[in-house]
Amino acid sequence: MGNRILIVDDQKGVRRLLEELFKRESWEVFVAGDGLEAITEVERINPDIVLMDMKMPNMNGLEASEQILSRFPDTFIIMMTAYGEMDVVKLALETGVKRCITKPFDIMVLRDLVNELRMERI
Ligand SMILES: [Mg+2]
Repeated sequence: MGNRILIVDDQKGVRRLLEELFKRESWEVFVAGDGLEAITEVERINPDIVLMDMKMPNMNGLEASEQILSRFPDTFIIMMTAYGEMDVVKLALETGVKRCITKPFDIMVLRDLVNELRMERI
């Protein structure tokens, strides 16, 4: 597995926090601010893992994940959902999203989840 990770979130603070975390973990980090941008970035950089926020303007995380997985089925996507969005979690997993994590989360838990997926993929 390569070491490219794409962080997709409409909140700049979240993008910055996760960018710093995964740079420290030796990932090559890319960011996008909504679902449309995420698709453009996936086409451009072909990331190994995508951290995808659910609620975003222009195109939400579920729709973006569907489009990405239909064209790049090997992409590992982790969806970040809000508390109580069990219907969204179910749909996301049916679409082929690998894992879901509820916001707010402990960033160390997210780090471990990403490392776990990385091992699964090797
Ligand atoms: Mg959001």
